[in-house]
Amino acid sequence: MKSITTFNLQYAHRFYGFCGEAQYLHGHTGVMTIEVEDTINEGVNMVLPCNEIKKIAWSVLRNFDHALILRQDDPLLPAIIDVYSRQGIKNGAPQNTNVGCAFKTELAEAYPSCRLIVTKETMTVEGMIRITYELLNDKLNITKITFTSGDNTASQCYKVRGTYDRCPKCGVILDEYGVCHKCGYVDN
Ligand SMILES: [Zn+2]
Ligand SMILES: [Zn+2]
Repeated sequence: MKSITTFNLQYAHRFYGFCGEAQYLHGHTGVMTIEVEDTINEGVNMVLPCNEIKKIAWSVLRNFDHALILRQDDPLLPAIIDVYSRQGIKNGAPQNTNVGCAFKTELAEAYPSCRLIVTKETMTVEGMIRITYELLNDKLNITKITFTSGDNTASQCYKVRGTYDRCPKCGVILDEYGVCHKCGYVDN
């Protein structure tokens, strides 16, 4: 069975070197849909609470919200960093509180303090799906990711390996010691 959750990401980007209007800086509201597959967890009768999927995904994907996403070789990147630096907001601002966990993977690096994401490849809907899977694959049994941005949508299915032990009282994934971080239930 699957649990499916959807949420919005608002971001700016461009396709550096692309022959089309997308080579100019522009913004989107992207819609991310993450499908998680597992057994039905007895006790709560669900795969995983949708707000738990969102919480786990959002801890890293929050970095993409109200962010600027640029490819590593885009000459706009040093220009933007220079402006943020001179303006004194490169290393954070008092109002920049809604930040995610910094991360660095093969495909992308997040700089939460200035809401900047630097990517290896152009950040298309396909690229965003690859980045998301790389970030969340070890935290959730993801079976499908769909990302829509403007008129563009891409999706990718994945094979799920194994199953997660989940709390019979609130449905969240138990930690390595069999403890529920939400209600304190201990699996003996
Ligand atoms: Zn775009
Ligand atoms: Zn619990």
